[in-house]
Amino acid sequence: HQGVKILHDPIRNKSTAFTDAERDALKLRGLLPPRIHSLAEQEMRVLGAIRSKVNDLERYLYLIGLQDRNETLFYRVLMNHIEEMMPLVYTPTVGKACQEFGHIYRIPRGLYIGPSDRGHIREVLDNWPHKNARIIVVTDGERILGLGDLGANGMGIPIGKLSLYTACAGIHPTQCLPVMLDVGTNNEELLNDPLYNGVERRRIRGEQYDALVDEFITAAQDMFPGVLIQLEDFGNANAFRLLQQYRQKTCLFDDDIQGTGAVALAGIISALRITGGELSDQRLLFLGAGEAGIGIADTVVAALVDEGMSVEKARQHCWFVDSKGLVVSDRGEISASKRPYAHKHAAAGSFIEAVKALQPTAIIGVSGQAGAFSREVIEVMGEINQRPIIFALSNPTSKAECSAEQAYDWSQGQAIFASGSPFEPVERGSRTFVPGQGNNAYIFPGVGLGAVASRARRVTDEMFLRAARTLAEQVTDQDLELGRIYPSLSRIRDVSALIARDVAAIAYSQGLSDREEPEDIMADIESQMFQPVYPHYA
Ligand code: NAP
Ligand code: MN
Repeated sequence: HQGVKILHDPIRNKSTAFTDAERDALKLRGLLPPRIHSLAEQEMRVLGAIRSKVNDLERYLYLIGLQDRNETLFYRVLMNHIEEMMPLVYTPTVGKACQEFGHIYRIPRGLYIGPSDRGHIREVLDNWPHKNARIIVVTDGERILGLGDLGANGMGIPIGKLSLYTACAGIHPTQCLPVMLDVGTNNEELLNDPLYNGVERRRIRGEQYDALVDEFITAAQDMFPGVLIQLEDFGNANAFRLLQQYRQKTCLFDDDIQGTGAVALAGIISALRITGGELSDQRLLFLGAGEAGIGIADTVVAALVDEGMSVEKARQHCWFVDSKGLVVSDRGEISASKRPYAHKHAAAGSFIEAVKALQPTAIIGVSGQAGAFSREVIEVMGEINQRPIIFALSNPTSKAECSAEQAYDWSQGQAIFASGSPFEPVERGSRTFVPGQGNNAYIFPGVGLGAVASRARRVTDEMFLRAARTLAEQVTDQDLELGRIYPSLSRIRDVSALIARDVAAIAYSQGLSDREEPEDIMADIESQMFQPVYPHYA
């Protein structure tokens, strides 16, 4: 039955906004309450409902339910209230939702692909109802935020990331495909949970794993030509390996490595407008030498090299502490990704020891270790620097290396602070400190939009470096006066469009696109962006 069908199609549904004429034409007469409401009135109803919920997980469930009923209204609410809604569909609440995924499960979204699909992944992709996917966010759930291996529960992450692709960069909802490569989980708690809904086995590794990933990437390219694949929240070893293996062959990037690299560099560039320093004068000390940490350091190095410094010299500006202490050259066995940053230096067992020995201008937390930036660490940073740069980028909020309040209080209000998950502004006397959210959500939507709008065949490091600079350029003096080193989230759509413009320009000028370069790249980008407005049905 046509009328009922359209009411249950989240893309076409207008709910109480169907006009009289549409109700007649689509055979909806009687199926809806008589009062016709505008999209704006529906938005009011939704806001009231969300705000009346008792906790954020309930708000998440309400929003996901809305997404399943009426995507236009969902995106209208998300876009018009991005500061309020982003922490619900994204970090930190999405972390909680992933932990509970099997228990709060309602309606499927995205594709699940597992070991039993070997040899048939093309057919699974063919089951996806939309044939025009342009962006795939794929995870295998091994390192979900700072929460570790959540197996198939990690599906919440691709879903949330793609919601931001639509809200922040206007990728049409039907062009977004969340994928869970469910290769099992080593999380015992989940394996013992009767409500866990992933494959009941420990993770496949090695050749079996690689073959599955390879079949997926090949089939996805074949099924959706030109599709952009975003690797998300893979375990450390696989993330670096897969990025290396596929980035030269396909339109693919790793958000945790490259997206995080760009957003952190943008934050540092902005922070330097406050401190008055040069990038080439900074000494960065990272806590955590994984995807995020190495990704940031590589991007900082790329920026320094672009300024004329040698790679070797540039790397000397980045230092790492991992789970075994300061990463130094004579440590013995060391992973390939850390190797370039293992400098000659005496060992240091603890982070505070390393801070005292190296006297960094900035500390960057990407370790998933809650509270690792202790009072002593921040006080010492305040003694070394007039304006210490302190980034606690680990997600969700419960894993942040320190809170905004701690950073400001323990540094006598001198810290330039950013965090991966949002913190409220901090009021101290007559001053208000507004922490920036150093999250790759400022980067990936724009980079992805630029890549697919220009039909880029590859996503390059140059694109991420450009994205970082474009983001930094959008930070105003007023932002900086409040201590905020990223533009207000309320401007994210404009910021993403600007990043997309610059990424597309690189694709055209570097011969990475077969599409004819449009005369006005910005107008071309904007014309491709989805707007959450209802269609009129004749
Ligand atoms: P990862 O690749 O697993 O790396 C984690 C790193 O932390 C490893 O180097 C590990 O040391 C180190 N580590 C673990 N425990 C430690 C301890 N007690 N002391 C010092 N170092 C320790 O993970 P990742 O992808 O880099 O992510 C790390 C964190 O960054 C997560 O919380 C994630 O949410 C966050 N993140 C934030 C953003 C953002 O946009 N804000 C983006 C991506 C990631 P070993 O190498 O010795 O094992
Ligand atoms: Mn991630």
